[in-house]
Amino acid sequence: MYETLKSVQQEYVFSGATKSASFRKKQLTKLKNMLIQHEEEFLQAVNKDLNKQETEAFMMEIGNVHQEITHAIDSLDEWMEPVKVKTPVSHTGSKSYILSEPYGSVLIIAPWNYPIQLTFSPLVGALAAGNCAVVKPSELTPHTSSAIAGAIRATFPQEIVSAVEGDAKTAEALLDQPFDYIFFTGSVAVGKIVMEKAAKHLTPHTLELGGKSPAIVTEDAKLDLAAKRIAWGKFTNAGQTCIAPDYVLVHESVHDKFLKKLQDHTYEMFADKTKNGTFTQIVNEKHFNRLYHYLDNGHVVLGGQYSKENRLISPTILTNVSWNSPIMQDEIFGPILPVFTYKSSSEALMRVRSLPNPLALYVFSEREASQQLFTEQLSFGGGCINDTLMHVANPYLPFGGKGPSGIGAYHGFESFRTFSHQKGMLKQTTKFDMPLRYKQGKLANKMIRN
Ligand code: NAD
Repeated sequence: MYETLKSVQQEYVFSGATKSASFRKKQLTKLKNMLIQHEEEFLQAVNKDLNKQETEAFMMEIGNVHQEITHAIDSLDEWMEPVKVKTPVSHTGSKSYILSEPYGSVLIIAPWNYPIQLTFSPLVGALAAGNCAVVKPSELTPHTSSAIAGAIRATFPQEIVSAVEGDAKTAEALLDQPFDYIFFTGSVAVGKIVMEKAAKHLTPHTLELGGKSPAIVTEDAKLDLAAKRIAWGKFTNAGQTCIAPDYVLVHESVHDKFLKKLQDHTYEMFADKTKNGTFTQIVNEKHFNRLYHYLDNGHVVLGGQYSKENRLISPTILTNVSWNSPIMQDEIFGPILPVFTYKSSSEALMRVRSLPNPLALYVFSEREASQQLFTEQLSFGGGCINDTLMHVANPYLPFGGKGPSGIGAYHGFESFRTFSHQKGMLKQTTKFDMPLRYKQGKLANKMIRN
């Protein structure tokens, strides 16, 4: 069944139907209209699945997809132009250029934490680059998955975009097919399975994974702003954000002041939501139980309340956490934030380096030297200086991890590039024929060396 789906899409791409900019813009416009037409349904679905509230859900799930679509439509003509490159003198008479061509039928596998955004954002890139796509949303957010599949079926013929609903088994069955490209967003563990499956057919792929993203607060940081921005970045979506600050490293000289401000801002932003039941839920019982056990991994200075029945955990700040405790072994992916102190920059560098490359890193500092030190000496996917999360919403920045936090990147032009094969072309003249390549000997070698 999936074989037929993939083949129908491949035939469609190879017929040349998706080549023109006008065709691609038409598909992107259809996607935009679909988001508008089904907005209410999508917002209700993420509310049922995760208790996400309308304003936050629009901003974090739908708004940035609109932004990506508009940016792609406005930039597409420029992106699709062949790129002229230099040609060495040894190739005199020829011209060189790079053509971006679609891969064909692309498989997009999405997670549950931002189920709308993380299904449609990659789709924007796939369509802009002239591909057709099969999308598989997450089974853990079933109302959203069904709304996505319904909207796609009502908008696109299946040879252009198709939706398949299902769990790991369905995803694995899809991965058994030789798709032309795989775009996966999800956990590190499943990323490894996807890579193994891709290896079987040598399918090019992007893996958008996770990890433990630190926020470093230096002694000269504007503590109030740092605390406010870290609290927002961490507890939005109940910490179920791949680039949420996973833990804080604060210079010991400002720890107490910072901690007080972090508590105050967290309380101010999220206490009402926790009390009136509008705080985002933990996605399921399995994740709730995992997070619940982290609550006793340190001293609770704020939060710590929970409701198993409603899968709610209040925004929680922990101190006195051991680096060897369970909470520091894996990405937390929930509303619990451990705060550590550091004495020297080298200690902070050592701590971050002791864990796999994070997806994001945030440095709060007024000194350029500290900003440079942490952003240039540490390996991570991307990040912010004096902010959290905001880099993800700039379509001019590539977004992706490094090694364990991901392979490849997307957003804006980077999405177009990710979903296009870059064909290197050389056009030779037939007006004359340079004799050099046919001549073997010392003179020819000397000319090449020079
Ligand atoms: P997950 O890996 O469990 O699932 C992601 C998708 O993979 C789902 O559609 C699921 O059905 C599918 N899947 C599950 N098992 C599979 C298998 N054996 N073979 C093939 N596919 C399979 O991840 P999740 O729990 O949905 O999402 C949370 C993780 O995703 C976190 O680690 C988070 O950091 C990461 N994430 C990363 C980004 C990013 O942009 N880098 C964004 C959001 C989430």
